[in-house]
Amino acid sequence: MKTANEIPYKIYLEEDEMPTTWYNVRADMKVKPAPLLNPGTLQPMTAQELAPVFCEELVKQELDNDTRYYPIPQEILDFYRMYRPSPLVRAYCLEKKLGTPAKIYYKFEGNNTSGSHKLNSAIAQAYYAKQQGLKGVTTETGAGQWGTALSMACSYFGLDCKVYMVKVSYEQKPFRREVMRTYGASVVPSPSETTNVGRDILSRFPGTGGSLGCAISEAVEVAVSNPGYRYVLGSVLNQVLLHQSVIGVEAKAAMDKYGIVPDIIIGCAGGGSNLGGLIAPFMGEKLRGEKDYRIIAVEPASCPSFTRGRFAYDFCDTGKVCPMAKMYTLGSGFMPAPNHAGGLRYHGMSSILSQLYHDGFMEARSVEQTSVFRAAEEFARVEGILPAPESSHAIRAAIDEALKCKETGEEKTILFGLTGTGYFDLVAYEKFHDGLMTDYIPTDEDLQKGFDGIPKVDL
Ligand SMILES: *Cc1c(COP(=O)(O)O)cnc(C)c1O
Repeated sequence: MKTANEIPYKIYLEEDEMPTTWYNVRADMKVKPAPLLNPGTLQPMTAQELAPVFCEELVKQELDNDTRYYPIPQEILDFYRMYRPSPLVRAYCLEKKLGTPAKIYYKFEGNNTSGSHKLNSAIAQAYYAKQQGLKGVTTETGAGQWGTALSMACSYFGLDCKVYMVKVSYEQKPFRREVMRTYGASVVPSPSETTNVGRDILSRFPGTGGSLGCAISEAVEVAVSNPGYRYVLGSVLNQVLLHQSVIGVEAKAAMDKYGIVPDIIIGCAGGGSNLGGLIAPFMGEKLRGEKDYRIIAVEPASCPSFTRGRFAYDFCDTGKVCPMAKMYTLGSGFMPAPNHAGGLRYHGMSSILSQLYHDGFMEARSVEQTSVFRAAEEFARVEGILPAPESSHAIRAAIDEALKCKETGEEKTILFGLTGTGYFDLVAYEKFHDGLMTDYIPTDEDLQKGFDGIPKVDL
C-alpha cells in the first residue's frame, strides 16, 4: 500500500488486476426491486413474455435477483481491453483551486470514441444478440450517446443497428448522427412515420420534437415486428446496471490498491445506469452492513424524478408498449423542458436505485442547468477534460461537497463519476457563454399533468 503522497495523479489497474466479473447488487438487497409487470394482466413479466423483446441471456440477467457475480464473457473482456481500465483520477488541480481539504477523485468513462460509459453495456448487449444468432437490434437514443455506443458495438459483431433518435437531437446534433452512420447504423428521427406508435404520436402532437419515451415505443415496435431483431435499452434496466457495475468494481479495486476509502460517492442520474454501476460494490458493502458511505444521485431540476417524482408502477415509454416498472417517475407523459443534458431527460428511474433510495440507502438532489455549466467550466479550466453536461451534474455536487469541507475543515474523500465528454454539446456551451441559458423548473401543476397519467395500480 502506498502512502497518500505516493498516490498517482491517475490510477490505472494493471491488466491482470482488471475485473473479470460483473457484480449484481440485487443479490445483497433485502428488499428486492419490484418486478416488471405485464400491463395487461398486472402480473410479473415472465421470461417467456420478455423473450420476443429482449435477447434470452439478457432476459435471464434482467430477472435474476440472486446471482451475486457474473463472469464477463471473454469476447466482452477483449473489447473492454481496448478502452479499459478507465482511469481513476485524483483531481489535485480542482482541489487546489477550490482550496478544499477534501480529496476528490473521479472515474473517467469518456475515453472511448462514443464518449461515455454507455459502451460498457452496449458491447455486452450486442454480444448476447450475436450469440443468439440475431440479425440486428433496435434502440432509441436521446442525445445520441447510447446510439453511438451501440453502433460501435454492433459494427464490431456485424449486427444491423436501427436507431430511433429523438427528433430535436437528430436536428441539433448532426455530428452524432454521422458518427453512428460511420459505424453502419441507420438513424431515424423520432417520432417517425415508420411505426404505428410514431404516426399516432405525430397526429396527436404535430411538430413535436419527440422524447425518449416515444423513441423507445418506436424501437420496441420495430423489434417485435421484425424477425431476427430484438430491442436493446441503454439505461434503466437491471441488466444495464449489471454491465455498468464494471465501473464501480474497477474503481473500488483501484481505490483498494492504494488504501483509499471514499466518504461520499456522487453520480448523475438519468435512468440510473452509471450511478448504479459506480456505486454497486460500495452499496453491496453498505447493504451487508460492512461499511457506510454517503451516496448522492444528482438530477436536473428540470426533470426531477427522484426529488419530486412518485414511487409507483408506471410505463417506461410514452406509447405504453413496454412493461410497467415500479420506480420514481414523473409520469410517462411528462415532456421535460429542453434541458441540454439530453441523457438525463428520462421520466423514470432504475427500479434498483428507486428501491434503494426509497429504503434510505442513498440521497438525491436536483441542480439547475446554469449552475451545472458553471461547474463544468470550472472543472474544464483546471482538470483539462471538457465534460458532458450530464456528467457535470455530478461535478456540481462534488464541488459543493468539497466547498462544505472547506467550511468545516473536514478532509473527506469524494468519488464522483465523470461519465463522458461534451464535444457534441458545444451548442449548449455556446448558449451558456452567451448568457442565453435558462433554468426551467417545472411547477407543481406541470408535474401534476405527468402524475395524472400514472396508472392507478396499487401493489
Ligand atoms: C446517458 C448518459 C448519462 C445518464 O444515463 P444513466 O443511465 O443515468 O447513467 C450520463 N452521462 C452521460 C455522458 C450519458 O451519456
